[in-house]
Amino acid sequence: MSASQPLAPLSHSDAILCDFDGTITLEDTGLATMRTFAGPGWWDIELAWRRGEIGSMECLSRQFSMIDVSPEHYRSFIESQPVDPALADLVQLCERAGCRFIILTDGLDLYIQWILQKLALTSLEVWSNEGRFDGSGRIVCSFPHQHPICKVHGNCKLAHLFRTRRDSRRIIYVGDGYTDMCPAASADVVFAKDVLAEHCERAGIPAVRCECLADVVTALA
Ligand SMILES: [Mg+2]
Ligand SMILES: [Zn+2]
Repeated sequence: MSASQPLAPLSHSDAILCDFDGTITLEDTGLATMRTFAGPGWWDIELAWRRGEIGSMECLSRQFSMIDVSPEHYRSFIESQPVDPALADLVQLCERAGCRFIILTDGLDLYIQWILQKLALTSLEVWSNEGRFDGSGRIVCSFPHQHPICKVHGNCKLAHLFRTRRDSRRIIYVGDGYTDMCPAASADVVFAKDVLAEHCERAGIPAVRCECLADVVTALA
């Protein structure tokens, strides 16, 4: 697959699995949160996760326990995070085609739902980890989708991909980062930004390099 080969238009038997942080939002919301509200030390935890020394559950739990912010202040910060302006077009394209659109993320439902509420897109299917304020300005993470065979991810995207494949003929994956590398290798069509695009190129995973969701809409219309 390459950008020069046209893709079959979206159909009802397809499913789009779309990453959230850095793909739907323009910046990674978790990293933006840490940069703004966490004390020193959060970046070392991030690097340990990127090197594969700890899993995302330990990474998220430790990082979100370091932040200090009120729920009201955090919500207004989250609502100010820029979102890809073509998200609504992509959702509409899926609705017209009768195709599933699923947000798949190793981030937290807390901030995802605030952003989707702001965009009036709360009916979207989202599979994520969970985060709740504990009453002292910290966020406690939980991992309801943790898969017994995956030690690396709180919300294993690959496990969700395999489950979605049972009733979808073509899996279209859209992502930008580290947690998208596993599922990208098993999708039928990959739209890749940033780190994921570089990884696909190095690993020989066929992918359409994209800059934004408008590229995905154009390629699948
Ligand atoms: Mg991402
Ligand atoms: Zn996994």
